[in-house]
Amino acid sequence: MANLLIKNCLMADGQSSDILIKNGIIKDISKNISATDTPKIDANHHFVTPPFVDSHFHMDATLSYGLPRVNESGTLLEGIALWGELKPKLTVDAIKDRARRFCKWAIARGTLAIRSHVDVSGDNLLGVEALIDIREEMKEFIDIQLVAFPQDGLLRANCLENLVSALDMGVDVVGGIPHFERTMADGAESIKILCEIAEKRGLLVDLHCDETDDPISRHVETLAYETLRLGLNGRVAGSHLTSMHSFDNYYFTKLISLLVEADLHIIANPLINITIQGRQDAYPKRRGLTRIPEQINAGLKVAFGHDCVMDPWYPLGSHDMLEVAHMALHCCHLTGVEQMRSCYESVTTKAAEILHLEKYGIYPGAKGDLVILQCKDPIEALRLKPARLFVIRKGKIISSTPPVEYKLFMGEKIEKEDLLFKNSS
Ligand SMILES: [Zn+2]
Repeated sequence: MANLLIKNCLMADGQSSDILIKNGIIKDISKNISATDTPKIDANHHFVTPPFVDSHFHMDATLSYGLPRVNESGTLLEGIALWGELKPKLTVDAIKDRARRFCKWAIARGTLAIRSHVDVSGDNLLGVEALIDIREEMKEFIDIQLVAFPQDGLLRANCLENLVSALDMGVDVVGGIPHFERTMADGAESIKILCEIAEKRGLLVDLHCDETDDPISRHVETLAYETLRLGLNGRVAGSHLTSMHSFDNYYFTKLISLLVEADLHIIANPLINITIQGRQDAYPKRRGLTRIPEQINAGLKVAFGHDCVMDPWYPLGSHDMLEVAHMALHCCHLTGVEQMRSCYESVTTKAAEILHLEKYGIYPGAKGDLVILQCKDPIEALRLKPARLFVIRKGKIISSTPPVEYKLFMGEKIEKEDLLFKNSS
């Protein structure tokens, strides 16, 4: 719990302010704060933002790319098969080593909260053990929320007992994968079982739901129905929802009002959805993302997750949440000014709301978690994916990156030019 005075912060409204953090909590936001006994840094009129929040990730699989082999087809199903080959070889220490390294990447890029699914199918709970340890080890630096995820299907792999054990061990959220159960009926049954468990235990729900191009994979409807039946409104998220891309338009106009009624939260994973969906299509190939603009217009909370970094499903990634938002913006035609701002919120404030994070944001009384970006505003952040000059956790600087500067040597005169920024100085 540290004290810090940050001078000359450029706030989201374009105004400059100082921010004073006392004992890890934002105490004051105003002009010309002086606090002689407090450590001080200068934001130098750069944009100060709440930290990035990744609402969907798989920390048990991350950084395992190439183990034991790479996914040659690039499909979801080969990824799941590959993960099945790797799982028997995993150890708690190996999972922890990779997860720890990954958390450092995330923190350096300004992400200070991650919801990670953890596989509970199979004959052990090594991933759960490892990630509960990492959640504790890293809590000074980053908030980790764990989801009990039956990767091989709750009913198909008969892993209800494991899922309940994982929750008993302290996993935070109930997960599932209805579209991977054997039949639509089993998928619906799994949703009912999982939502009832969450209701009894007072937990949040986040299911991988309809992660397919099948236009009649409609588990999202069941998920919204169970949410309403059990009074879980505002506590349930559907992750991926890619089949919605291919839904009949008439059906979608009926469905969206049910989603609003249930206050169902949406978590899209743009980098992975654009890569994995549409693989069986001839041209034209579907983009495969869920209907993000329509969901935003209907007033639903929409967040974006990174989902994977260098694992059986995705060979790339450095865990930069601005890359994630940038991809969504392009794939979903979200180039209007308010739409671009909304994309930024999907990796910050809206994601924080879906995770039910407390005291998140920049206001007196909020946690002193902030990131100073080398840019002027959220849209410039999306455009440039700029350096994270300072990453601050509860008033303590936990990462810094020097400002990016380009030097051009063109002819006799050496020019030093600020190429990136619209308001160069
Ligand atoms: Zn996932």
